[in-house]
Amino acid sequence: MRRRTFIKLLAAGSVAACARPAHATIRGLTMGTSYTVELAAPIDDAVRTRLTELIEDELAAINRAMSTYDSRSELSEFNRRQDLRWVPASRGLLEVLDRASQISTASQGAFDVTVGPLVDLWGFGPEYRPRRVPDDAMIERARQSVGYQHVQADLSAGAIRKRDSRIQVDVCAIAKGYGVDRVAMILDRQGIHDYLVEIGGELRARGTTAAGRRWQVGIERPVEGKHVLGEIVALDNRAIATSGTTQDFFEQDGRHYSHIIDPMTGRPVEHPAMAASVIADTTMEADAWATALIVLGPERGYSLAQARGLAAMLVTASGSNFDVRVTDTFRAHLVG
Ligand code: ADP
Ligand code: MG
Repeated sequence: MRRRTFIKLLAAGSVAACARPAHATIRGLTMGTSYTVELAAPIDDAVRTRLTELIEDELAAINRAMSTYDSRSELSEFNRRQDLRWVPASRGLLEVLDRASQISTASQGAFDVTVGPLVDLWGFGPEYRPRRVPDDAMIERARQSVGYQHVQADLSAGAIRKRDSRIQVDVCAIAKGYGVDRVAMILDRQGIHDYLVEIGGELRARGTTAAGRRWQVGIERPVEGKHVLGEIVALDNRAIATSGTTQDFFEQDGRHYSHIIDPMTGRPVEHPAMAASVIADTTMEADAWATALIVLGPERGYSLAQARGLAAMLVTASGSNFDVRVTDTFRAHLVG
């Protein structure tokens, strides 16, 4: 879970809000990236301390449950497990695995948290490994231990299981979204109704800014090594996540290999510069779908999003221009 931020709070609404003394911001580090909580109303020191503590505790608990960068986490332990019987799991891991499995089915396997062995093989995993194209036999071998049907979560029983002992779960494509949702829930419970929560570019907004406007968020274009602002969207009680192929990748023999892997081929997606943004009720859903749409690519991804009524935007660089596809439900969020 390294830093691959796409969405920045660049838009007029939030920047203007930052300049107001009434505005409050809490920031920190989590999941190998940073988080920001913007509150429209001022808070006193005692409230700030209390809120920061609640947020930090929650994020630390999420990391203890599902970080694959921590060998002692609940998920790392599950990954090492050879036993195929059901095992009790924490609420967070259950919720994430349950939602992941639904999105895997809905995305025809494009989203798949069991890609762990492939992520590691291509050098995008927690362990340092030189990034180069592995040979076909190795890809084939890793592919044998991939398949979202081989991990199950039973919410009512509070348990998870592997149906193949080789399964290695990697929730990097959905965990930041889940974290945002949990932080938003903490704010809700504290009676705070005007906020924007962000972890590594995935974010959720509720209510209005200090200026009484809807929160606005700028979405970055898929451009390597530069921050280029594209569309601006307004959010009210909604979440947005963006995935892309230009934030974490390597190049070999003139080809581009991104950290997002197509579970069908066992290879990184081939579109050299593509970004997908999804707006949804929860950040967890938006996060997972954004990754899924990158795997599906601009055509298939757009068709599926449109067919499912997903609010999605797919941007592909072509030369110095951008091909922008916006689904009907996404269009309503565009500003300007
Ligand atoms: P980011 O974390 O950069 O915001 P994503 O949410 O798209 O981007 O997550 C990408 C990460 O998810 C990869 O680094 C890898 O660990 C994992 N991953 C790669 N391919 C897939 C996939 N097809 N389905 C689910 N997770 C994936
Ligand atoms: Mg994602």
